[in-house]
Formats: sequence, structure tokens, C-alpha cells
Amino acid sequence: MEECVFCKIVNGSIPAAKVYEDDKVISFLDIMPANKGHCLVVPKKHAQTLIEMSEDDLIATVKAAKKVARALSLSFGNGSFNMVMNNGKEAGQIVNHAHIHIIPRFQKDRLRIKWSHLKYEGDEIKEYAEKIKKFI
Ligand code: 5GP
Ligand code: ZN
Repeated sequence: MEECVFCKIVNGSIPAAKVYEDDKVISFLDIMPANKGHCLVVPKKHAQTLIEMSEDDLIATVKAAKKVARALSLSFGNGSFNMVMNNGKEAGQIVNHAHIHIIPRFQKDRLRIKWSHLKYEGDEIKEYAEKIKKFI
């Protein structure tokens, strides 16, 4: 993964403002934050999305995300944060190395992570549930 920017951060060939590291995970500040303090939590082993990550890496990454979110809250935050993971191009993923965003939230920040709501017609909601359940 020579071209992957997060692999380069993992192997130290490009710098990052690191806040946490263990054998499986690294966390550093997002260079273009949604709010100041916005952190990325990244498995060291390259995987494109959540689906490609091993169970062990996933557990380690989510645990690290909690540590980082807690530290943000205890330092300059207030306990409110968004935990976001963009998986795939249509979901807005730009860096193709799986990562979780931890974005601290403040009372008057201008960040909007809200969507408009659609409606299911008739039995459509059951049909969607059936489609998904077949592959669980
Ligand atoms: P995505 O849209 O893929 O979920 O988010 C990728 C994030 O990575 C963006 O918020 C972007 O600002 C951040 N990013 C991209 N390149 C770099 C980099 O070289 N260093 C750091 N620290 N963050 C980066
Ligand atoms: Zn990578």
C-alpha cells in the first residue's frame, strides 16, 4: 500500500499529530478538521472499509475510539461528539484506508450531521428487512 496516506502515517514516513498508539491502532488529529480536536482512529493493517477489517482489528479500533472520545471529552470537550465512519465512495470516503472519525461537538458549532427523513410505503419496510436478513 505504497500510495496510501494512512499507511504512510502508520509507518512514520509522513508526520501526524498523534494522540494514541498501540500494536493494532493509531489515532491522530485530522489535518482538515470539522471541529478543532477532530481525531481519526485508524487500524494499522490496511483495510479499505469496515467490512474488510478483521474482528481483532475492529475490536481494537472501536476500543481506541472510545479512549480517544473520552480523552477529548475530559480535556477540552463537554462529553458530546460524533463518531462517524464513511465506508465507500458514495458514503463520502476519500481516504481508502478504514478509519473512524471522532468529532467533538460544541454548543454553537456550525457542523451539521443530520439527514432528511424518507418514508416507507406499505410493506416496504418488511421487504427491506427480509432482503438484509438473508445475508446475515
Ligand atoms: P474520509 O472522507 O475518507 O472519511 O476522511 C478522510 C479524512 O482524512 C479527511 O477528513 C481528511 O481531512 C483527512 N486527511 C487526509 N489526508 C490526511 C493527512 O495526510 N493527514 C491527516 N492528519 N489527515 C488527513
Ligand atoms: Zn493504508
